[in-house]
Parts: sequence; C-alpha cells; structure tokens
Amino acid sequence: MINSLFEDKKSDYAYFLPLGGSGEIGMNFNLYGYKNKWLIVDCGVSFKDSKVIGADVFMPNIDAIIENKLNVCGMFITHAHEDHIGGVHHLWPYIKCPIYTTPFSGHLLQQRLIDYGLLDKVNLNIVKKESKFDIGPFKLELINISHSILEANSVLITLGNKKVFHTGDWKIDNDPEIGNKPNSKRLKEIGKSGVSAMICDSTNANVKGFSGSEKSIEKGIYNLIKGYQGRVFIAMFASNVERILTLSNIARKTNRQLGAIGRSMWRMIKASKSVGYLKEKHIFHEERNIKNISDDKFLAICTGSQGEPLGALNRIADETHPHIRFKKGDRIVFSSRMIPGNEVSINSLINKLVYKGVDVVFPKAKNIHVSGHPGQEELKMMYSWINPSVLIPVHGEALHIKAHAELAKKNGIDEVLKTKNGQLIRLSNDKADIITEVTTGKMAVNGDELISTDSSFFKERKKMLFNGVVTINFIFSDIGDLQELPRIKFLSVVNSIEQEQLLALSEYLNDEIRNFIPFNRAKENQLRQYLNKKIKKFIINKFDKSPSIILDIIYI
Ligand SMILES: [Zn+2]
Ligand SMILES: [Zn+2]
Repeated sequence: MINSLFEDKKSDYAYFLPLGGSGEIGMNFNLYGYKNKWLIVDCGVSFKDSKVIGADVFMPNIDAIIENKLNVCGMFITHAHEDHIGGVHHLWPYIKCPIYTTPFSGHLLQQRLIDYGLLDKVNLNIVKKESKFDIGPFKLELINISHSILEANSVLITLGNKKVFHTGDWKIDNDPEIGNKPNSKRLKEIGKSGVSAMICDSTNANVKGFSGSEKSIEKGIYNLIKGYQGRVFIAMFASNVERILTLSNIARKTNRQLGAIGRSMWRMIKASKSVGYLKEKHIFHEERNIKNISDDKFLAICTGSQGEPLGALNRIADETHPHIRFKKGDRIVFSSRMIPGNEVSINSLINKLVYKGVDVVFPKAKNIHVSGHPGQEELKMMYSWINPSVLIPVHGEALHIKAHAELAKKNGIDEVLKTKNGQLIRLSNDKADIITEVTTGKMAVNGDELISTDSSFFKERKKMLFNGVVTINFIFSDIGDLQELPRIKFLSVVNSIEQEQLLALSEYLNDEIRNFIPFNRAKENQLRQYLNKKIKKFIINKFDKSPSIILDIIYI
C-alpha cells in the first residue's frame, strides 16, 4: 500500500506517518514521505511498561519501514532527550540511513555509537544550529526553540510547494542563560510564508498558563540552600544542563562547593564542556572527593529523581554507593517532576530517605522545577506565529492530544487532525486526511534482541511469573512403552507440594497415555496437545493455578 502512494507521478502529495509518540508519551518516531522518499524525524525510546515483565527499554516497531522497503534518505534528531534519540543505536542497523543533528546532540550520539561499536558505520552529519540543508527531496531549516535540554530544534520541512512545521519538544523561555531562546522573529516570518501543517508537542496542552522560565526557579532553590546548615542534594534530570549551570551559580552565591553524582550527570557535564556550554571555571567535585567537604559548604546535583533502582539517590539510600552515605540533617530537593508511571518507585525512595532522617523537599509550586513543554498560553502564541492550515497534535497520550485539539480549535485553527501511531496521513496544502493504518507496536530490548511486546514470549514470561512452571519428562523405550512413570517438577507453583501429590499426577498421566501405546514419533504432536489439556485441568482442579507447562518427550 505505502509504495503505491507515489505511483501517480503528477501528484504532489506529502505524507506524515507517526510510528511512535502519538497516543503515548515517549519513543517519538515520525516519518515524512515525498516523491517516494522518506525522512525520519527522531528515533526515541520509552521506559517501563507495567504490562511487560522483565524489560525496561522500548521502541517503536518499524516493520512498516522494513516490510514496505521504504526508501529512507535520512534521519534528523531534534534534540538529545532519550525519547527522541535513545532508539538510534538499536534501530539504525535496520534502516542504515545518514543521520543529521546539531553539535550537542551529535556529541552525545557519537559517544553512544562508540559504546555500541557503530561509529565507523554510521554516516553522522553534525549540522549548525539554525542551518538549512537538504535530505533527499526534503529541504530542512532549523529554528531555535527553548526546552529542558540544550539545542532543541524546531524544523521547517519544505516538500515541493508545501511547508510543514515540526515543533519538536519546546517551550518559550525568552531569558535563558545558555539554552536556546525561541527565534520568534523567524517563526513569525515562517508563519507569514504559509504553513500547510504544524506537527506540535501536546505534553502540557491541558496545563493552563506558561511553563515558566529556568531563571524563575533560581530564587526558589537558592532559598532552600542559603542559611541551611546541613548538606544539600539536588535531585534533577541530568539532561537539563541549564539547571546544572543554575546550580553552579547558586553554589557560588551560597559559598558552597558543587559536587556531581551519577554517571549520566557526568556524561552531560563532559558533553557540555566539550561543546562549550560549560566552561572550565564551572567546577564539579568528583564523587570520591565530596565526603571531605564540610556540611555547610556541601551542595551536590544528583541523578535518580524518578526512583530508578540504579540511580544515584537509590544507591546512596541503599548504602551501595561506593563513596556517599546519607545522614540525619541532609536535605534533598527534588528539582524534577514525577513522570507518570514512576509514582511507586519515587514514593518508595522518599520513604527510605525519610527513615534516614533526611529532609525531603518535593516541588509543589513552580519555584523549584519548571516544565520543558508548552502550557496553553505558549501554544496559543505558537498558533499565532505559525498560523498553520492544519494542526496535527503529537507527543502525548490520547488525553493530551484531545486537550490540544480543543485548545487549537478554540484559538482560531479550524483544521485539527487527531492522530495516533500508525496512521498514514496525506497532507495537501490546506487539508490532512488519514488514508490508511500501518503495522505498529512496541519492541522491547531483551539482551541483544528486540522482541515485540505483543509476542507470546512476554505472555509466557508473565504466566511463568504469576503461576510458575511445571516440567514433565516422558521417557519412551524403543518398543514404544513408557520406560518409567513420568518425572514431574513444580517450580514456584505452590510453596509446598507433597510427594504423594506428584505421584498422583504421575500415575494419572501414566493412565491417560495408555491409548497412545505403542508410541512412535508420528503421534508426538497429538500426544502433546492431549497431555497439555489433561495436565492443565489436573493442576487447576488440585492447586487452582495455571502454570507454564514444559513437556519433554525423550526416546531411548
Ligand atoms: Zn525533550
Ligand atoms: Zn520528548
């Protein structure tokens, strides 16, 4: 279906196809199609899914690209948050297209590609901020926009006579210290030139007002540190380099020494120094040295604000961190939001901290954390600048996308198309229509493999976890007799099982198998099906459990 889109050579349609990030928060992956070529914008991951046991990292199923052999001529990464960049090293081997991004994201991506042995294989193009370049038939222009990470880019994509404005993640912060200030002048010019469609961030579409500037929180955090006699730890997202800089300023003003804790925190500090956003004068003490700093001079930024089991905060609280321990009188300020889905792990972390006599401060107001996504007033401002013919809300769950659509309609945008992953959308100059749906889904990282979360693999894993496993061995002699009573093992099915109960099942199966004797390989499938049913029934009746059953048929 997808390949026939371009058969009519005269048609000048363009296409938009979200494979991730529409109808969910995380794993953003968007495709634009034009003249039988495709451009990918962002390739992210998401974390945690309570329905999937034993996997923590997920990314979109890209079978639509692979099975339709789409001609992908490049990938542009808007910024370096994991929900936009984290899937590159997993999915690039299936796509093998050139990648384009700006220096800060490029530096972080390079490190990741080195770690995974991919750097020499990938054609990685570092492009300048606010630059213009072509990827196949797509003409791209990058526009500076604010966000909670350095170098967030919005991108204007020109496809023939159509202009599509892809906002990426954004907010408006007109007074950033090192991050991007939105280039409102250029955004207004783009709006005047006529934009067919705007693909826009919906994360905070149901939040009234403005998201607030980074600078606005400096005072709130400063007040929690100034005059406090004990040590202060600031839990935050490592990717927010501007906040790292804010804390560096506060350390100077409160005459404290600043330490950094957590691997991703150090990764960000190194990347920011090498691209020039942090200078040598910004000093961060290493983890092994900060225990020598006196309490009233101690300030540290650390990872693990979402209660991640291996994040710095949990490791310190569990006393598994090699250099740092919490003590009574420490203060921990969470300069971060609670990402939906992480409530349980964050609460369990906070309980551990409270037990240790630590003073925990969580953001209730906007004075110690601000969001990186646009509130309703910022969205309205963007509508007025870009004035698109059609708005397609993305980057959000169904409720965010619905709120975004309602807000846009109330504020002068007549055409709004609500979408979800897998919907192939045809863009004309002043209209957008869903024309079909393609395969979508979620792949989970399992060691070196990617496995669909809908596969029987995860269903079986869940069953094993909740009901345990029963293994049964049948040994047949060369004349097709059962050599001995079936051998049975119960693993995590019930806490205690008596020998007689196992024997009863064994004898029951011995009787049930009689019709198959003399046994030969031709009967194996039939026997397996028959036994599976019988065993299931027996175990449900006796133990009220439905474990995974492993039948081993052995011939000697
Ligand atoms: Zn982001
Ligand atoms: Zn995002």
